[in-house]
Amino acid sequence: MARKEDSPRPRGKSTRAIHAALDKTIHGEVSIPIFESSTFSFPSAEEGAERFSGAKPGYLYTRMGNPTVNALEQTVNQLENGFAGIATASGMAATTSVYLSLLGQNEHIVESEVVYGPSRIVLETHLSRFGVHSTFVDTSDLRKTEAAQRENTRLVFIETPSNPTLSITDIKGTAEIAHRHGALLVVDNTMAGPYLQRPLDHGADIVIHSLTKYLNGHSDVIGGMIVSASQEIYKRIRKTVNLFGGVMDPLQAWLILRGVRTLGVRMERSQENAMRLAEFLKDHPKVAWVRYPGTADHPQHEIARKQMDGFGAMISFGVVNGLRGGMTFLNGLQLITRAVSLGGIESLIEHPASMTHAAIPLEERARVGISDELIRFSVGCEDFEDLREDLDQALSKIN
Ligand SMILES: *Cc1c(COP(=O)(O)O)cnc(C)c1O
Repeated sequence: MARKEDSPRPRGKSTRAIHAALDKTIHGEVSIPIFESSTFSFPSAEEGAERFSGAKPGYLYTRMGNPTVNALEQTVNQLENGFAGIATASGMAATTSVYLSLLGQNEHIVESEVVYGPSRIVLETHLSRFGVHSTFVDTSDLRKTEAAQRENTRLVFIETPSNPTLSITDIKGTAEIAHRHGALLVVDNTMAGPYLQRPLDHGADIVIHSLTKYLNGHSDVIGGMIVSASQEIYKRIRKTVNLFGGVMDPLQAWLILRGVRTLGVRMERSQENAMRLAEFLKDHPKVAWVRYPGTADHPQHEIARKQMDGFGAMISFGVVNGLRGGMTFLNGLQLITRAVSLGGIESLIEHPASMTHAAIPLEERARVGISDELIRFSVGCEDFEDLREDLDQALSKIN
């Protein structure tokens, strides 16, 4: 729970990222210890019974709660302005736990058609076996989200900015549609992170994260988080996570707690690099097009401006000569790392059509804007000149 504020002004984002976990220290430690204990003793039989019934707070068993994991939950919850957070083993465990908690037989979900691939595959090939119906639409167009609603729609699930096309969905407008139809709005906030975008402030009911990306920021841990806006939603999801067991380990939580403390400086630095590199790429003769929410020609630039504190550090662009040009470019890079994932302190670059989104049929990829020449660039915290030079020399190899 948040430390009592001396002043009514809420603490800033960077301060929360650094201090939120340290409210309840035991010995005055300034780093949360790793509580590697699977179970917790009770001072008396009565106390044990009271903890189990919920009459008294206290730890029982690490699958149901752990002090290190709790510290991380508290931190991300404070960053998202939520009611409470639930840490999970991975981002996918967060997504599937939300689905399993809030969707049942003959119920329906409307989801962004461009989302992290597995978020969609789970619905299409697995939850469909249990009678869950799903519709995928371009949620950057609110009319399409509205038209997809059915009587049995329980969830609207969006990803904004979307991976890898970086299209933006209006969170407030989508929340209004969902609520009018009796559904809850879930936002996958992985691509922006809470430093730049807090969906609960715009009316969303649940935020999920792959902590693997910006919140941890060092490409060395997998983890996920679910932040709920209300106690009622939190309780429903907490039960599912505890029972299905996709929980976070204390060591994972500690590593992510360490990463999250530098969230502010990492986001500022990588975003500044991204803004300058987007401009550089736009003017490059070997670059066919650039998509970055911060440039005025991005189709949803105004919505991004309204709901984000900054435009982030992801850039999508196309090089000339299609797939062959893309391969030549990727192979020519000497500094920027060729790898999937994003949000690390190092720059990562990948080719969705042959890598992360290769499983999507060609026609569907083309329809949703994942063209063969699209390159996804997660801009890191290196020196701008080094990144610019590496891009320039690799682009010049395309003929
Ligand atoms: C990586 C990612 C996920 C899945 O997270 P994992 O930690 O790999 O399970 C979900 N959504 C988005 C947008 C992602 O980038």
